[in-house]
Amino acid sequence: MKAVFLDRDGVLTRERLDYVKTPNELEILPGIGPALRALRERGFRLVIVTNQSVVGRGLATHEDLGRIHEKLQSELKRMGCCVDAIYYCPHLPEEGCNCRKPQPGLLLKAAKDLGIDVKESWMIGDKEIDLEAAKRAGCRGVRVETNVGDLQQAVSSILTIEKETGNAMI
Ligand SMILES: [Mg+2]
Ligand SMILES: [Zn+2]
Repeated sequence: MKAVFLDRDGVLTRERLDYVKTPNELEILPGIGPALRALRERGFRLVIVTNQSVVGRGLATHEDLGRIHEKLQSELKRMGCCVDAIYYCPHLPEEGCNCRKPQPGLLLKAAKDLGIDVKESWMIGDKEIDLEAAKRAGCRGVRVETNVGDLQQAVSSILTIEKETGNAMI
């Protein structure tokens, strides 16, 4: 099983400097639906891996984050797609956990839980830490611009490389 790991803030939803603390503050970026559907059609599982120190900072609870992610999933469903799972790191940077990207913990846990082969998988992120986490986990990474949303180009490059290496699942 192969997957595309997706960063959340700045990639699927609008990154806010004051963090997304409530479902109301969650804004889905435009143009992500077709790109995510294209990945699904090619047999990729979709897994969000996101740093959410908003919890560690006491600005939102795990329950708040649960509600935010319920809204995210229902918006994605409206676009005809969904993600298989959402993994987040609630810790502060200084806690030194092994799940906050650039650590690969979230990706490796998701891979173990869902039976994902990281070597066949990709990460789409908007920050260097996303690409670093991908590298440490053993998968490939594609960077997109923060808060632009249109993932079509990133998805096209993934699917082109898949085709060239004969990994495309039709
Ligand atoms: Mg981000
Ligand atoms: Zn963590």
